[in-house]
Amino acid sequence: TIREAGGDKIMSLSTATHKALSRKALIEKRLLQALNQKDLKVFYQPQFDLHSSKITAVEALVRWEDEEIGIVTPDELIPIAEETGLINNIGSFMLDKACEQAMLWKKAGFDLKVSINASVREFRDKNMAKSILDTLAKVGCPANLIQIEITEKFALEAESETFITQQMRKLENAGIGFVLDDFGTGYGSFKYIQILPIDTLKIDQTFVNALLKSEKTQKLVHGMLQLGKSMDLKVVAEGVETAEQVQLLKTYGCDIIQGFYISKPVTPAEIETMLQQ
Ligand code: C2E
Ligand code: MG
Ligand code: MG
Ligand code: MG
Repeated sequence: TIREAGGDKIMSLSTATHKALSRKALIEKRLLQALNQKDLKVFYQPQFDLHSSKITAVEALVRWEDEEIGIVTPDELIPIAEETGLINNIGSFMLDKACEQAMLWKKAGFDLKVSINASVREFRDKNMAKSILDTLAKVGCPANLIQIEITEKFALEAESETFITQQMRKLENAGIGFVLDDFGTGYGSFKYIQILPIDTLKIDQTFVNALLKSEKTQKLVHGMLQLGKSMDLKVVAEGVETAEQVQLLKTYGCDIIQGFYISKPVTPAEIETMLQQ
């Protein structure tokens, strides 16, 4: 409380708030510039199919290092971009890059899907589905090479805003797959897999992280995998870091793993090196 905090604390609190605000304003300003100059980078993290023992997909993750600010991590960048609306620009930048990269890999003979993350704010734009399909057409990228990862926060709003679901259906009909990301961390997981056109569940890394430490988590993850199977969904485990985790996930029937055990997010060239091995 204010009384406990005392005069000095109140001063330093307001200084901290001020600092956070000016950092946010600086990030917003520099981000707009970076977007105009296409100064963001895309790293790709492989997803390894446990049935075929092959890398079958990659997740596109935004990376930004600004001259002035330095590295801004997605955990700081994405919420600011969502708030300011710049997430729409990031989204279309990522989609362009992902489609171009998917086509380069296809032409090089690699059979690889590319996943991109979408924020619900992007789908508030009523032309979202159309502009995604236009981008695919422009690049000549088949829709089944692209997957869109959404979170439960997204799903929650999609449920109440019918046109968001309609756009998802339109994309689904065109061949784009939807992944429910960070599965298990929200409130409506079970509801959304009934309502939304989702074909893959991605078990959140917090569960994978606790897997070897807790028997309860083991039962929970096993249950999630059984649920996925019974609903004809593919299941990806995220944040896999050790061979022991892989072993357990295999026993439970997990289809695909993603995490530092396979690789951290890397450049396209590094992905190609992995594919050639
Ligand atoms: P996410 O979609 O759940 O992505 C997975 C995050 O976990 C990535 O962090 C990845 O680097 C990290 N990770 C992967 N494997 C491991 C592991 O084995 N151990 C640990 N400790 N971490 C691992 P990153 O790249 O910092 O991204 C954070 C979040 O930012 C993403 O979570 C996603 O929600 C969001 N994000 C990233 N790029 C974009 C984007 O282009 N658009 C949107 N809308 N969101 C994005
Ligand atoms: Mg994701
Ligand atoms: Mg995730
Ligand atoms: Mg996550």
